[in-house]
Amino acid sequence: MSTKLSVESRCIHLQEDDRAARYGAISFPIYQTATFAHPGLGQSTGYDYSRVQNPTREQLEKIVASLEHGTDAIAFSSGMAAVAVTAELFGPGDHILADRDLYGGTTRFFRSVCEKNGIEFTYIDFSTEDPEDYIKPNTKAFFVETPTNPMMNITDIRKTAVTAHAHGALLIIDNTFMSPYLQNPLDLGADIVIHSGSKYLAGHNDVIAGFTVTKSEELTEKLRFINKTTGANLAPFDSWLILRGIKTLAVRLDRAQENAQKLARWLQEKKGIVTKVIYPGLEEHPGHDLHLRQAKGPGAMLSFDTDSPERVAQILGRIRLIQYAESLGGTETLLTYPLTQTHVDVPPEELERNGITDRTLRMSVGIENCDDIINDLDQAMGEA
Ligand SMILES: *Cc1c(COP(=O)(O)O)cnc(C)c1O
Repeated sequence: MSTKLSVESRCIHLQEDDRAARYGAISFPIYQTATFAHPGLGQSTGYDYSRVQNPTREQLEKIVASLEHGTDAIAFSSGMAAVAVTAELFGPGDHILADRDLYGGTTRFFRSVCEKNGIEFTYIDFSTEDPEDYIKPNTKAFFVETPTNPMMNITDIRKTAVTAHAHGALLIIDNTFMSPYLQNPLDLGADIVIHSGSKYLAGHNDVIAGFTVTKSEELTEKLRFINKTTGANLAPFDSWLILRGIKTLAVRLDRAQENAQKLARWLQEKKGIVTKVIYPGLEEHPGHDLHLRQAKGPGAMLSFDTDSPERVAQILGRIRLIQYAESLGGTETLLTYPLTQTHVDVPPEELERNGITDRTLRMSVGIENCDDIINDLDQAMGEA
């Protein structure tokens, strides 16, 4: 039944459970157990030990796989754990083409862990450069975000998949910024989709989680094996929090996106204080048309430059409703200063090349009343 339902309904109704059904429970049970008793010698209920699988986590994985149009999803204890397990597919001597404007934590992991372990990286701007020019005989994967973090560069997923596959490389897309509600990279040719579940999927800034989603049997098997072997799995209670969060994914994103569109326009009018607004929903954004061809909407993340670093300090010190915090994708509007937060470990020359300055702020637009967000930002920006 579930696959025929629309995405909005699948966020809510994939939750059948025999034991819960017996009592008419509407909410999926939290199976808070480490291990499972066997009915007899050589027999299993389908569950043996919660590192390998747990019914609450399995339920969540089924929903995420369904929303992302994959055949399998694995729930990890963080987005970085999902990235790390994906990287275990590669080894010394392998080469990966990675987006130059990735999430700061991913860049840090590639540079400080993977490179040390003998994986070679070339960082390119997939939105403007042709990956074909950087392919080597040992290139095994492309790792891409679209839109990127925080500069909102847009990469053509379909075209990039064709190039990757022509050279036998995998296309890995970190789809955190869009969520499976707005963009489904597997449909466009990607091989592995990664999510930080801590963001839109959870949606309430109250849990850390990550996902990989696949549709190839071979990749699924490899990732599941590494996952059960390394053990960074999502706990039953955290799985349940995300199951609950996903129920409102569609309405949250619709509202946050509507707010983001209004805020982007409002920021453009703050001439003299705001010098640049970067949001894929603006027609003047260079990736606007391409983005809307491959995604259902522009999302609720935007970045803007102010006139000075002092203005950044003023805004961050004065905001009241908006919170100055890392992360994104929750009900509450957050302002992030990439230079000292998400991108603190990115080398200065890379920051400059990507256009991230000491005047750049990133905003995760929440679902509050938009006038309240605007009023708060207005009072925070104004002359002291
Ligand atoms: C947050 C984030 C991650 C890392 O996820 P965690 O859940 O914080 O470990 C990876 N990619 C993107 C795009 C993110 O925003």
